[in-house]
Amino acid sequence: MSFPVIGVIGGGQLARMMAPAAEALGVGFHVLAESADSSAAQVAGRVTVGDHTDLAALEAFAAEVDVITFDHEHVPPEHLRALQAAGHAVHPGPDALIHAQDKIVMRRRMDTLGLPNPRWAEITSPADLDRFGAEVGFPVVLKTPRGGYDGHGVRVVSSGAEAEEWLAAHPALLAEEKVDFSRELAVMVARSPMGQTAVWPVVATYQQDGVCKEAVAPAPGLDPELARRITADVLTVAGALGVTGVMAMEMFETPDGYRVNELAMRPHNTGHWTQDGSVTSQFEQHLRAVLDLPLGDPSARTAATAMVNVLGADQEDLYRAYFHVLAHDPQAKVHMYGKSVRPGRKLGHVNVSGDNADSVLARARHAADFIAGTDTNPHPDREDTA
Ligand code: ADP
Repeated sequence: MSFPVIGVIGGGQLARMMAPAAEALGVGFHVLAESADSSAAQVAGRVTVGDHTDLAALEAFAAEVDVITFDHEHVPPEHLRALQAAGHAVHPGPDALIHAQDKIVMRRRMDTLGLPNPRWAEITSPADLDRFGAEVGFPVVLKTPRGGYDGHGVRVVSSGAEAEEWLAAHPALLAEEKVDFSRELAVMVARSPMGQTAVWPVVATYQQDGVCKEAVAPAPGLDPELARRITADVLTVAGALGVTGVMAMEMFETPDGYRVNELAMRPHNTGHWTQDGSVTSQFEQHLRAVLDLPLGDPSARTAATAMVNVLGADQEDLYRAYFHVLAHDPQAKVHMYGKSVRPGRKLGHVNVSGDNADSVLARARHAADFIAGTDTNPHPDREDTA
């Protein structure tokens, strides 16, 4: 074997953005996509259309590639075990990945590792939830342990009865105290099978309707002591769980430090800034890690980088906006995912790097929102034209 072939399960934008890194490294890139026109299928060197829950499809795909990795966390763990048992390299492996698939498993493990969890309970009846609410105070946050994304699978509830509908469909739910946080933070780590690790700076993230809208790196004004603690903690998690590839740890910042929100074991929206703002992007690093190659330098290139998502709105013709956006800010970096416009859908993002967090955020926001059509003022610095 000379240059290996990476196989990515899932054809979303994360797989799409791995493609340029595979191209640069000169490795093969094969995607198992849900459809021939999915985001990654438009750009990948090789595409197989297949169902990631179908073991036969996974086995046939595995036979074509040297290492399997993921665009999402929805492949059933038992299928991944079967692939491993047949001798295929799967990164991250199912024993690590389960902590990103099942939030109850993750909470239990964070407790064992001594990481700061919100108070939580596994509930199987409305009475359980009433007891938990009495202990920590309603409202509490109720989550489906598996299958949630972008805020689906998260509800704020004020009584045990509100759990009834979900309990009919899920054997157990995760209840969490509603953390009184000042902002949300995220950190990304890469770890290779040989155990090398690299951590990017901690970022501040902003959600809109449960969807990540913005990230600023490094998190402005973050206490250096807290940043050091988070960096040490995410390395503890990556090592203890045997993570291979990149992992994001999402957190809530609190007056006494932070609480863990959740883990993602793949490139992550809060790491998109690394494409333009860091020496090594999360996508390149992920490929290096799953190939067990030496990792790249995760340092930031500038004092600040902002990433703002282009979220679908009414505007259908997104390309037209390029004439303004690219002329207005020649340093802005636009990344679009080749997806059709639907309200609230993640269609792309814009990265802007520079010296000042406020200014790069304002510039990235203008570019992203102008493409989406939610900002129609071409001169954001001249209020009078609004
Ligand atoms: P998803 O898996 O859909 O991304 P999350 O668990 O990240 O769901 O929750 C989505 C959002 O809900 C979080 O970004 C945060 O704003 C809010 N949230 C989740 N858990 C809590 C909590 N325990 N306390 C307060 N807010 C929370």
